[in-house]
Amino acid sequence: MSGYHHLKGWNEECGVFAAVGVPQAAAITALGLHALQHRGQEATGVVACDNGRFHVVKGIGLVSDVYRDADLEHVPGTLAIGHNRYSTAGGLTLENTQPLRVVYRGGSLALAHNGNLTNAREVRSGLEESGSIFQTTLDTEVFLHLMALSGTDVVEDALVEAARQVQGAYSIVVLTEHSVIALRDPHGFRPLCIGRLGDGYVVASETCALDLVGAELLREVEPGEMVTIDPQGLRSRRAIAAAEPAQHCIFEHIYFSRPDSVVFGDTVDRVRRRIGRRLAEEHPAEADVVIAVPDSSNSIALGYAEASGVPFELGLIRNHYVGRTFIQPSQAGRDFGVRVKFNPVREVLEGKRVVVVDDSIVRGTTSRKLVRLLRRAGAREVHFRVGSPPVTHPCFYGIDTPSRRELIGALKTIEEIREFLGVESLGYVSIDGLLAAEREPKRFCRACFTGNYPVAIDPAASKLGIEQQTRGGVGAR
Ligand code: AMP
Repeated sequence: MSGYHHLKGWNEECGVFAAVGVPQAAAITALGLHALQHRGQEATGVVACDNGRFHVVKGIGLVSDVYRDADLEHVPGTLAIGHNRYSTAGGLTLENTQPLRVVYRGGSLALAHNGNLTNAREVRSGLEESGSIFQTTLDTEVFLHLMALSGTDVVEDALVEAARQVQGAYSIVVLTEHSVIALRDPHGFRPLCIGRLGDGYVVASETCALDLVGAELLREVEPGEMVTIDPQGLRSRRAIAAAEPAQHCIFEHIYFSRPDSVVFGDTVDRVRRRIGRRLAEEHPAEADVVIAVPDSSNSIALGYAEASGVPFELGLIRNHYVGRTFIQPSQAGRDFGVRVKFNPVREVLEGKRVVVVDDSIVRGTTSRKLVRLLRRAGAREVHFRVGSPPVTHPCFYGIDTPSRRELIGALKTIEEIREFLGVESLGYVSIDGLLAAEREPKRFCRACFTGNYPVAIDPAASKLGIEQQTRGGVGAR
């Protein structure tokens, strides 16, 4: 078992897309993945199907780099699925790049998964004991093995059989020789939506991908629902009874999804504005300007500015072209990692009392460096405001968070964190305030703030903190 401690963290924060009944499905899928780049920057893959023939393009890197010379416009076929992958620690190999493609007795298929299975280790070791040979270290692969063992050639039935044996978070797209199947776990942790494009359909993690390809949002795939799309149209089937209430990931609204997406029935920008307004009510500050830590907290900072009447300014500018690794010249000095990403606008900050709004504090290290940056740019006072409660528990459903031992919210009191950051004041939105920004607050998972996990976490990982010793932790924004 211990060999699998790295499984957690290998399939997180991903984006999936599928096109069916759409000309140039492979190229459309790559375009959809481009809009989902924020959900995973490490690796990307497209699998298209033309008359039963599968065509695979995968690579490590950004969508625009991987598909640049792939000539996807000329890949035939009206069926395709794709995936963007985010990973933290090591092990970035082509084998671990999705979609996973296999040939089994029911024919060829490919599968792409966003989320994190909580019982993958258990299921996997059971399968290995009975002789299964795994090709990857992804939790996702257990789906394929369980499907192969299901004793049916009907892919949908096999997928339902597999889904019954796994737990946790999965928004999945499957490509068969004739169809695309979309499936969402019974709690609906991760988003998944369906759009109409011409005579065909697309499926995507977020609606911003629908916008880019010119598709119209039809609806979400419901928690526990399986949707098959083929030349006959769209058929829905209940794969697993939906959990009541659903457990949508509240961190998608706070940080992860794009603000222009409609996720869990709400425009992300609107939810973030409401969080910001609430934050201003709960933690006002005597200040001259409100600034955001771009880009993820822009909407929250705007909400804060609206409600407080303190003007919003662009006090930090983000460089979007920062790769994961950066050569640091020896003379570049302290806080280089943050400075390479953010530069303060001195005019905006000099002599000012500044409210700086961020969506979350995880380890606290970025925030601390940012505060130093603002001070060096002349900020007279820094009032730090956070659009989420303290993150005290790791996520086991697909958001990359470090172990409890590294979560500053689990280690220090708010006053100690204020001191650590070196700010005049610090305010986190309350859990009730955060939930008040949601239309249906009961339908959200908030285990990262409470430790109340709606799906039992892997027993082998339950010693929160020990299982993740090799984890890289919070990565690029
Ligand atoms: P830190 O407190 O130094 O760990 O970093 C917190 C910053 O990371 C915040 O500005 C967040 O916007 C961002 N962040 C929060 N969660 C994640 C995540 N899961 N992956 C990458 N960045 C994140």
